[in-house]
Amino acid sequence: MVTVIIICCPHALGLAVPLVVARSTALSARNGLLIRNRTAFENARKITTLVFDKTGTLTVGKFEVVRVEVFGQGLSEQDLVRLAAGLEQNSEHPIAAGILRKARASAVSVPKVEGFKALTGQGVEATIEGQVIRVVSPGYLRKKEIPLPEGFAAAPQETGVFVLRKDKSIGYIGLADQIRPESAEAIRTLHAEGIECMLLTGDNDLVAAQVSKELGMNGYFAQVLPHEKQEKIKELQGKGEFVAMTGDGVNDAPALAHADIGIAVGSGSDIAAETAGIVLVNSNPLDVVRLILFGKMTYRKMVQNLAWATGYNAVAMPLAAGVLYHWGVLLSPAAGAVLMSASTVVVAVNASLLRVKDKQVQPKILLRIV
Ligand code: ADP
Ligand code: MG
Repeated sequence: MVTVIIICCPHALGLAVPLVVARSTALSARNGLLIRNRTAFENARKITTLVFDKTGTLTVGKFEVVRVEVFGQGLSEQDLVRLAAGLEQNSEHPIAAGILRKARASAVSVPKVEGFKALTGQGVEATIEGQVIRVVSPGYLRKKEIPLPEGFAAAPQETGVFVLRKDKSIGYIGLADQIRPESAEAIRTLHAEGIECMLLTGDNDLVAAQVSKELGMNGYFAQVLPHEKQEKIKELQGKGEFVAMTGDGVNDAPALAHADIGIAVGSGSDIAAETAGIVLVNSNPLDVVRLILFGKMTYRKMVQNLAWATGYNAVAMPLAAGVLYHWGVLLSPAAGAVLMSASTVVVAVNASLLRVKDKQVQPKILLRIV
């Protein structure tokens, strides 16, 4: 009876999951993964499709102005940059930062604006010196049926924005961004894990196609407006996919909220971080991979620990109660106590073996008994 009572106190069972949770929380924080929603994190093993936002997630998100073109007469390139910079000083989009850098480099004085309005996923609008100026995407021009001067063609691979004055296009600013060096490896590893990777961007078709091809992704959706981003996620979910979404911008927030797992890239906007279940402190796409592998491993450890603890109790309890007494096997209270401690140690050691897998950096964390 004493042995039964000793074994009935299921230390290992009670510690099995909390130990793994404590360990994985500490490790994830140390590795720059901020987990706001644990369920989402533990569900990482179910992901079948990962949707990436382009700007700032797969690319550096640091736009550089590579071309300025003025349509018609009476306006210089400087004037165009000046107007655009006036609008963009109020925007937090990476394109805005690029245009402002250009303005600073060409020593243009940025004018004051009134009535600034962000046309999310399409551009910005404000009044400068009594005239309504907009800086918008090619998609916006198409939607409003605003014509372009004859012979004008935006270069492929260029993220271009048009400057409009009173609904008439007066110029074009071409910007270029760079793919992050880690993106290709991230996509490769995800493929090896059997996860499909899709690109979802508000940018134009040519840029999207190029990035998707260069990184070997499974496909892309281009010129997607913020509310449509959410629709795309729903569409994928409707096909039975378990969808994770990675994004950084205000425009990604609805999609992040809607995805089964929302992952915000740290350098992005506060709204994205607020909506997502998981925040990556660094803006490294490889962190997404580590996160998924780590989520899988955490779950595996929990199951292992539960199996250990339950198995131990299931075997030791009947033994203590004397089911094998007939064959001369009966646990003494001392043996019961040793077994019980041993099971707790096994569970603790197993939890402490949890590591963040990383292909490049050797894990610093070695065995440590909790
Ligand atoms: P992504 O999905 O790549 O993060 P967004 O949805 O933020 O892109 O933006 C889509 C498009 O809208 C941009 O490629 C650009 O043409 C236009 N746009 C968005 N914000 C701005 C801005 N502040 N200034 C100029 N253009 C903008
Ligand atoms: Mg973005």
